Amino acid sequence: MMLVYPSYYPDFRCIADRCRHSCCVGWEIDVDAATLALYDSLEGELGDRLRRSIADGHFVQDASGRCPFLNDSGLCDLITACGEGALCDICYEHPRFRHWYSDREEVGLGLCCEAAVDLLLQQTEPIALVSEGEECATAEETAFFEARKELFAIAQDRSAPLTARMERLLELGGVSLPPLDWRTVYLSLERLDEKWTEELQNLRLLAVVPSDFEREFEHLLWYFLYRHLRPDGIAEGVGLAVLSTRVVASLLATGEQTTKRLADLVRQYSSEIEYSDQNPTVLAEKITDFRC
Ligand code: SF4
Repeated sequence: MMLVYPSYYPDFRCIADRCRHSCCVGWEIDVDAATLALYDSLEGELGDRLRRSIADGHFVQDASGRCPFLNDSGLCDLITACGEGALCDICYEHPRFRHWYSDREEVGLGLCCEAAVDLLLQQTEPIALVSEGEECATAEETAFFEARKELFAIAQDRSAPLTARMERLLELGGVSLPPLDWRTVYLSLERLDEKWTEELQNLRLLAVVPSDFEREFEHLLWYFLYRHLRPDGIAEGVGLAVLSTRVVASLLATGEQTTKRLADLVRQYSSEIEYSDQNPTVLAEKITDFRC
């Protein structure tokens, strides 16, 4: 079995009480069956508190959307009392995402987490994939990994402007971005936060990225490719990666062009689009429909 991860992955650390957009606020946290059984078996005050705090298989948020175990210092009472081993799968894994193949597991860091965003954007060298262990991939998977490697190389070819790299990616992926009113499309999607709705009011899709941020957008493009390319959906993955990069770049161009604002837009985009059950599919369908 092979484990694959981006070169920056081992440097990730949750910033816990310093996090301004904690994953313990505003998200419904489902507790997996094995952890529910563990919590049911716990005795004493902590066990009672856990059972009081969970209903229908998820933690019951307080009136401001906070997990009942997130304390006023921004720390998790459960970790403080029992360590990370007592966390349910979602809390333990967040913000990691995983893709499984027949003999390989690929892991990445989702960008709804501000620490993961900062880590990605501060990379200077092109991001590489690191692998550990051996694998016996199928012929279809091997072809996919080779095709993806070529797409990564185009995305990271610093001899060309990022705009040209994105055009080349679309060409190689056999896909075009439909000439839609993307502001209306994004405003029609499921949305969580009013601030995101406000940002979208100014969206006008540009083909270029702000020149001062080519390196950051290269990493973002790479991340979207890594996250969304699948063996049975190369065109959709490329289309979604380029569209997502352009949307974030277009939003950045509408206001203050700072690393801080870029990081916030990336986090919002990921939270609103990638962490929705529906939104990536809706966008991929818009791209696919145009191909047909
Ligand atoms: S969003 Fe990221 S940095 Fe913030 S609390 Fe969650 S894992 Fe930690």
